[in-house]
Amino acid sequence: AAMGKQGDGANVRVVVRVRGFLPREIERGATCIVSMDPATETTTLNAPIQVGTTQNARVNARKTYESKTFTFDNSFWSANRNDPHYADQEEIYNALGEEFLDHNFEGYHTCIFAYGQTGAGKSYTMMGTPENPGLIPRTCEDLFERIESNESPNISYNVRVSYFEVYNENVRDLLVPKRDPPYNLKVRESPTEGPYVKDLTEVQVRNIEEVMRYMRMGDASRTTASTKMNDTSSRSHAVFTLILKQIYHDMDTDETTERMARIRLVDLAGSERANATGATGVRLREGSNINKSLTTLGRVIAALAEASNKATSSRKNKDVVPYRDSVLTWLLKDSLGGNSKTAMIACISPTDYDETLSTLRYADQAK
Ligand code: ADP
Repeated sequence: AAMGKQGDGANVRVVVRVRGFLPREIERGATCIVSMDPATETTTLNAPIQVGTTQNARVNARKTYESKTFTFDNSFWSANRNDPHYADQEEIYNALGEEFLDHNFEGYHTCIFAYGQTGAGKSYTMMGTPENPGLIPRTCEDLFERIESNESPNISYNVRVSYFEVYNENVRDLLVPKRDPPYNLKVRESPTEGPYVKDLTEVQVRNIEEVMRYMRMGDASRTTASTKMNDTSSRSHAVFTLILKQIYHDMDTDETTERMARIRLVDLAGSERANATGATGVRLREGSNINKSLTTLGRVIAALAEASNKATSSRKNKDVVPYRDSVLTWLLKDSLGGNSKTAMIACISPTDYDETLSTLRYADQAK
């Protein structure tokens, strides 16, 4: 996707990250079927070798597999720490997070999505671990460092956070104690501000520790339910937002002006299809709502990328961006179009042909 264009066109970036083997994959003797070429930013999904056994990769003996190659804005190789091309958490931040934060300090919104099947590395990429912090803590750290290094007496800052999830097309505040039965917030539209969540908690934060405390509080109340995949799989989209306000005080005229930017960091629900996990009833409905918002998000990002590639016809294209087709895209409308920057990080497993192919296809149509 074209980058660096301002004005009507959108700034869209689509990247892929492949994670390393999990203990259970090593145990079953799985082989790595993903390769990347750092020179061309291509990702190749190799056909699994179909020896008489199906132990090595999740293969169906009666199916024919083909190798497929895709090109992205970046292909991040995080499969093997000993490899010279290994992309660690810092590299992901330097390639994406830092530039997006620059954009926020210029007064524009940004949005980063992590997409992929459960276990593909979404929350590792967004949140990370205490030893290997991900995009969210790194963004917060950089944000407060920039604020603290400000020496101009004319500028002051105000940072607030909110954290909500979209589950089954309903919105829940993650910064209030969980209620039973859970209650849903209403989505409203203001003529000047666009769509917003009514009564959503927004708290002021002064340092990274305070942000992390709210983050953990929200994570604890996030809706999860186990599926037949033997994992606790995340069935909701978690939208973490930092609101950066810069207040300029003109000493001569005593006037103040404000600049506001929203930093959205979104951990999407697992992209594995509902039918693949033997879902029925509530799980099935969840699955089809997840599919609906993920499909709509893909279409929205593709429409924005298209608009930014064809700057001349962008006004016309803007009309067909299907924001309204899902709650998630509707709520993020202000963070997606116009001068905002958007990134999609497609997280993939190195061993799962079908799910990885479906994620790569999704990312490919979004760029
Ligand atoms: P998801 O959020 O997509 O369900 P997780 O982020 O929880 O997946 O990742 C699943 C497991 O893989 C976790 O144990 C995580 O620590 C590990 N993991 C994911 N990505 C990486 C990576 N790039 N490097 C090392 N470990 C990773």
